[in-house]
Amino acid sequence: MRPGRTIKAQLRLYSLLLILLPLSLPLAAFYGVLRSEGLRKAQGEMQAELRHHRYDVERWLGYRLADVVHVSRTAAVRTVDLPAMKRDFHAFLDAHGDFRSLVYVDAAGRTVLDLDMPEGGVDLSDREYFLRARQGQPFISRVLTGRTSGKDIVIFSSPVLNQQGNFAGLVFGAVRIDALLEMVSSLRRTPVDPSFLVDAASGVPLLAPDDAQPIPLPPLDMLVDGPDIYRNRVGVEVLGVGLSLKNGEWLLVQERAVADILGDMHRLLLLLLAVSGLTIAGLTPFLLRLAQRVTGPVERISAMSEQIMAGEYGSACPSLDVAGLPPELERLHRNYCRMSERISTHVSELERLSGTDELTGLANRRLLADAGARIVSICRRAGQPCACLMLDLDHFKHINDVHGHATGDEVLRRLAAAIMATVRSSDFAVRMGGEEFAILAPNTDAPHAMSLAERLRRTVERIDLRKAGMSVPVTISVGVAGMTVAPRYGAGPLEDLLARADHALYRAKQAGRNRVVLWDDVDHAMVEAQEAPDGEEQAQAPPVCAGR
Ligand code: GH3
Ligand code: MG
Ligand code: MG
Repeated sequence: MRPGRTIKAQLRLYSLLLILLPLSLPLAAFYGVLRSEGLRKAQGEMQAELRHHRYDVERWLGYRLADVVHVSRTAAVRTVDLPAMKRDFHAFLDAHGDFRSLVYVDAAGRTVLDLDMPEGGVDLSDREYFLRARQGQPFISRVLTGRTSGKDIVIFSSPVLNQQGNFAGLVFGAVRIDALLEMVSSLRRTPVDPSFLVDAASGVPLLAPDDAQPIPLPPLDMLVDGPDIYRNRVGVEVLGVGLSLKNGEWLLVQERAVADILGDMHRLLLLLLAVSGLTIAGLTPFLLRLAQRVTGPVERISAMSEQIMAGEYGSACPSLDVAGLPPELERLHRNYCRMSERISTHVSELERLSGTDELTGLANRRLLADAGARIVSICRRAGQPCACLMLDLDHFKHINDVHGHATGDEVLRRLAAAIMATVRSSDFAVRMGGEEFAILAPNTDAPHAMSLAERLRRTVERIDLRKAGMSVPVTISVGVAGMTVAPRYGAGPLEDLLARADHALYRAKQAGRNRVVLWDDVDHAMVEAQEAPDGEEQAQAPPVCAGR
């Protein structure tokens, strides 16, 4: 029996598969499909959010630029009315909290009115906003470092045209980057992390919500082309989405922690795992109990069949808790026990019959080999004597011929009864066949065996049997032999004993019948002379009882 093929092993394997496959396959599919689906959905939401933010940022920038354009077109600026301009600038800065300064620059690029630097005359003709203004373009600068404050600022500039429509300088206002930062980080239409701005050319964050640490970003084009997953500045795995604004100069970036995006999915997954785990935990004891209820009895019954195969029919029916058994196994167990019981009864009966002579009820010759050998071997081991009586009815053929076969049978039965009445319970009496019997008498030496034989001979002689008014004479001849230390005839001590008793019987017949003869050395010498003329010491064929 291969261990892997047992019911128990297979039940274990398939239960495991039954539990793991339905759990792991949907989990793998669930994770694979839902994860990408979740990220895709989040990307869509973030991009939509970013588009709103871009609109807000561009509108904010547009408003600030419009404010500066408006100032550049006031009469005070166009006519370079410095007192009026100064008054207007103060009023403007009071009304527009985002602006830190407002400056008027003349057509040569020199500051004329700067509320922070009253002396003026600073040459700004190389600045990009000046060059743009000279070309008649309003302009929003990159993030610059303020000259006086040293803070990050964005310049909003607008050209100034004089009454004749010629370039007469520019007005620019500086807005502290913090204002833009606050605005951007306040942009949250949906409850997500605030967006932040990155300089598209350098990748340096312009407006980090919390700190000024450089934020490691994936290649910017990747962010613009599609979402990317990377670790942000605090080591959190995030999904990043970017949207360019201000003609590609800046990048508005939004990041969301992957754990947050997949949080619901993970919770669902955990719930599924918990439900599955609880189901498995709940079902497993039942499965195990069922497996135990099936495999336990099957193993016991299987072991019982092995015992029957080994010929141990009498082994008790395996004690099982029948009440807890499934009905099929209960029936199998019940029937098996009955079968075993019947086989046991039949086999014992067969054994008894096969070893019993039907006519006399004595043991038959088949039983002699085993039982006789056992008796002889016990005697030898115990150092006790053992004797054999070989009996044969005298002139039995004549009884049959004169009184009939049925009378012959009755004589046989009476002889068997006489034997049983005479021998000890430890003696073993056997019908050897026809009208010949043998008795093995353990713990009996030759003299005692002789007296037993004589007693038996006399008992038989006294059998009073009459048929059709005629007396039926019943006598026996008996050959007696005691066990010798060294067996000489046949295959073993039993055969030796039987052969010598048989030879003594032959002698009794020769001597005239109805008598008892003991095997003696004369016989031995005779047999030696007849059967082993060369005097060999090894086992010999038993003596031949010619004439019987
Ligand atoms: P001896 O004194 O030399 O032993 O002569 P015998 O007639 O007894 O011996 P023999 O071997 O010549 O005859 C034995 C007879 O026993 C022959 C056989 O018909 C008879 N016999 C054998 N078995 C049975 C049996 O079961 N029933 C009956 N009625 N007769 C049997
Ligand atoms: Mg005979
Ligand atoms: Mg005879």
